[in-house]
Amino acid sequence: MTTRTIAIFGGGVAGLSAAHELAERSGQGADFEIHVYEKRRDQLGGKARSIHVPHSAKDGRDPLPGEHGFRFFPGFYKHLPDTMARIPSIKGSVYDNLVVADRMEIARIGAPPITISARFPHTLSDLVTDIEALFSNTGMLPGEPGFFAERLWQVLTSCQDRRMAEYEKITWWDYLDADNHSEAFRNLLVDGLSRSLLANDPVHASVRTVGDTNIQLILGMVSPIRPTDRLLDGPTTKVWIAPWRAHLEKLGVQFHHETAALQFGIADGLCTGVEVISGQNRSLVEADAYVFALPVERMARVLATSKVRPDDPLKGDPALPGVLAVAPNVRWMNGIQFFLYKDVPIVHGHLLFADTPWSLTGISEAQFWSDEHLDHAGDGTVNGIISACISDWDTPGILFGKKAVDCTREQIAQEVWAQIKASVNVEGKVLLEDDNVHSHFLDPDLVQHPDGTIHLSDAEPLFVNFTDSWANRPPAVLQTRNLMLASDYVQTFTDVACMEAANEAARRAVNGVLALFGSSAAPCELWPLHEPALFAPFRWHDQKRFDEGLPWDGHLL
Ligand SMILES: Cc1cc2nc3c(=O)[nH]c(=O)nc-3n(C[C@H](O)[C@H](O)[C@H](O)COP(=O)(O)OP(=O)(O)OC[C@H]3O[C@@H](n4cnc5c(N)ncnc54)[C@H](O)[C@@H]3O)c2cc1C
Repeated sequence: MTTRTIAIFGGGVAGLSAAHELAERSGQGADFEIHVYEKRRDQLGGKARSIHVPHSAKDGRDPLPGEHGFRFFPGFYKHLPDTMARIPSIKGSVYDNLVVADRMEIARIGAPPITISARFPHTLSDLVTDIEALFSNTGMLPGEPGFFAERLWQVLTSCQDRRMAEYEKITWWDYLDADNHSEAFRNLLVDGLSRSLLANDPVHASVRTVGDTNIQLILGMVSPIRPTDRLLDGPTTKVWIAPWRAHLEKLGVQFHHETAALQFGIADGLCTGVEVISGQNRSLVEADAYVFALPVERMARVLATSKVRPDDPLKGDPALPGVLAVAPNVRWMNGIQFFLYKDVPIVHGHLLFADTPWSLTGISEAQFWSDEHLDHAGDGTVNGIISACISDWDTPGILFGKKAVDCTREQIAQEVWAQIKASVNVEGKVLLEDDNVHSHFLDPDLVQHPDGTIHLSDAEPLFVNFTDSWANRPPAVLQTRNLMLASDYVQTFTDVACMEAANEAARRAVNGVLALFGSSAAPCELWPLHEPALFAPFRWHDQKRFDEGLPWDGHLL
């Protein structure tokens, strides 16, 4: 059997998933020698990695576990959990390290929280009733929750062709007529819910992406059989990424750290090699197939550098210019952790700090973790972690009246803590106290300028599906026969930048490699988003109307 060398660039969730799925299929009609090239010195996992808090380890313990941003694994994820179930861990598999969170709380400044749990909606009126019950007494105008439910219902009962042809072109903001609704409606339903899964900015993100994702989340929340939300039972790198690396090494995958892809070329429909840099040394990686598992802004940088080559890849493959077109569609989302002496669980699930000016989301993590992780970390006095993500960098905060980008790192920490406290310490309850904070850790990607402001340009932003961007987003398998793309911006069923999309894109890329070399291994499975069978008659009816050029009407008769 001929051995095929496969070079994968990027050791994030997409790159590791591609290596994993490929390594398991080696030896079935084709042998694969797999190399992963990662620009970071010693870390894998990309945006999902844990980040050790420097100088925090005392008396032989582990460093405190910081992170780029906390991780959640919603119930609708299928691809990623399927791969996780094949990574051995002391619990069996890493999938067994996932624990279910049974609540989601929408915390509000100076008002009681809304805790979500409901029954499965069968009709529009069920959905309206559920949403009205959830959002009553929230300061919204009468009819606004019902209006939101109707808009969601429209997406739910529209056929796929209409979603692609019409909803891809409309922003979530316009679709919900946000300018003409109350501030509470905008904060809770337009902005809050769309940002609950990643950095979806409703002003730019399409109805197709936010609508589909909200439906998945809401159906997850109310489904009797699917957990809404799952989390790992310890720090991400410790319980997932490290066992993953060990497993991949056992399968023969070779890792090359501090090695970054710089440029490549395409000639006669084939990638001709990738120039990499390692320290000061440049060299050429030649392989039988190449998988670029880089985030969109990095892939765009590689393409821009490669443009000067005689075998310019942008001329060689029709899908690649689209990468440059969508590369600016990124938003900042970065994390901060507050380490607490005493654990404060707040709620058994995620927190959406709906009316915080910096669009914060968060979780109180320790309640989900096995005891040993914090007992064996730092100086041994930390027993709780509030981990939060900041998604809005351009709205003034409540403590300093400044945008996050204009704050120093220390001011960001103080401001986030103030916004969280204002949302959690309500109605006379004091859950979070200043003297319970042991220390905090802000994502080190946020570099402070000498003038004190934050420099974001080299941090790791997150891709957002802007309206009308689908056509520019490339598929995983390109016309260039030995070149594949795998990352969260690639066209996938998942269609929102997250770890599930990264894994799905990697599976598609691996299927391209298997087909290229005539492997007899079973291709990686792919699953479309779950569309409840209950609404199939509505979607079928809408398909007929769409085919006849008629608008959606939401009726079966
Ligand atoms: C704050 C935050 C919180 C998030 N929370 C969640 C969540 O809860 N659930 C969820 O599903 N998703 C979440 N996401 C999204 C998710 O992290 C990403 O969509 C996913 O990790 C992307 O994986 P990736 O492998 O495609 O890219 P990345 O994670 O970006 O990995 C790419 C890798 O490539 C490396 N690299 C970059 N350039 C080069 C180069 N030139 N050569 C070689 N290597 C290179 C990088 O160092 C990195 O290791 C979150 C994102 C952020 C920012």
